Amino acid sequence: MIAYIILIVVVAVLLIGVGGTMFLRPRGMHGVRRSRNRALDLTGSMPAVKDADSGTGAGTATATATAPPAQRPAQPPAPARPTLEKPPPSAGRMVRLRSRLARSQSGFGAALLGLLSRDRLDDETWDEIEEVLITADVGVTPARQIVSDLRTKVKVEGTRTPDDVREMLREELLEQVETAASRALRTQRHEGRPAVILMVGVNGTGKTTTCGKLARALVGDGETVVLGAADTFRAAAADQLQTWGERVGAEVVRSDKDQADPASVAFDAVSTGIEQEADVVIIDTAGRLHTKNDLMDELGKVKRVVEKRTSVDEVLLVLDATTGQNGLRQARVFAEVVDVTGIVLTKLDGTAKGGIVIAVQRELGVPVKLVGLGEGPDDLAPFDPVTFVDAILGG
Ligand code: GDP
Ligand code: GDP
Ligand code: MG
Repeated sequence: MIAYIILIVVVAVLLIGVGGTMFLRPRGMHGVRRSRNRALDLTGSMPAVKDADSGTGAGTATATATAPPAQRPAQPPAPARPTLEKPPPSAGRMVRLRSRLARSQSGFGAALLGLLSRDRLDDETWDEIEEVLITADVGVTPARQIVSDLRTKVKVEGTRTPDDVREMLREELLEQVETAASRALRTQRHEGRPAVILMVGVNGTGKTTTCGKLARALVGDGETVVLGAADTFRAAAADQLQTWGERVGAEVVRSDKDQADPASVAFDAVSTGIEQEADVVIIDTAGRLHTKNDLMDELGKVKRVVEKRTSVDEVLLVLDATTGQNGLRQARVFAEVVDVTGIVLTKLDGTAKGGIVIAVQRELGVPVKLVGLGEGPDDLAPFDPVTFVDAILGG
């Protein structure tokens, strides 16, 4: 009887093992960069992401059969592939990265609190407050607005304890940072198609890095992602994206040719995403800014071609927080060329000028949806105004 049960278990394990290997095979067999069989591959590799310890993609099969790991050698040797990482989910990330934000922004908050705590708030002090705000890249108009609001509040409230001052400033900054528009990223499949995110912005702002970090975060949230390397201007950009994708098991669609048509890569990426029933397709683009017309032609075409297959759900404009007014000017050009749905503010860890959150939202009329707080793979967070303002105020 026992022998009989063992026999059944062994047969079951062998059958499932063979099935599992078939799922794995396409990746190893095809050297090509775009493969129609990747749909199967993805089904095989996703459990490995959720069950990263095994790193083989056979985690589900093993779990179902409750077979001992000793049965695995019965499979033919698996092709070498990188061990998939299991990124953390996106929720709560900004709180986790808050110390980094506080470190870079606390000077600005402390200066404001110090000035507002003076016994006498004369015109000169208010000028200084405005100056601190402008130095932090809040922008001239918002800085004046903040000063005017604070002056009114001080008049109404009269005496001020340090706690009152902090609360008053906190309230004012929150009012400036908060927007009516939702900061949620549209990453849900719809009409049986993946959500499509287009990443745009000037070279060096962090587009490719953000595509990679975002793919990781989405995988961490349990979604399947296809990356499209439509920055065909530099081959290195596609390599960079591929490295990010491989680490978390996200398919990367790229062209084998140098200087290929970016729209054609975008089209292929979206087609692959549809075929594989992925949740999200993220398309990296080139940020050359020779002329506004070039940019308009290129991004316009990418968008138009994607829209032959499905809608573009997000156009994320990547802006380097360290570039100040110059960065804002460039952002404006992009916003004139495409309908930007959200801003990714990168390198907030490397500047004390967090006021740019306020300036850019006001300038472009779209919310900051994500912030980059370092070069590490998980240093991208959904933007949260309360965490941001509290980090500025060091509270
Ligand atoms: P145009 O060059 O401005 O006319 O833009 P197209 O609409 O021709 O699209 C540019 C690229 O996207 C093409 O070179 C194709 O690679 C790709 N593309 C667009 N539409 C299709 C399509 O229906 N099927 C396929 N396979 N590729 C397409
Ligand atoms: P792209 O040209 O727009 O694609 O920019 P890349 O993604 O290649 O990034 C340019 C540089 O910025 C790289 O060295 C990144 O590591 C760095 N970078 C991107 N995001 C951040 C961030 O949030 N913080 C820091 N400190 N560096 C970043
Ligand atoms: Mg790039």
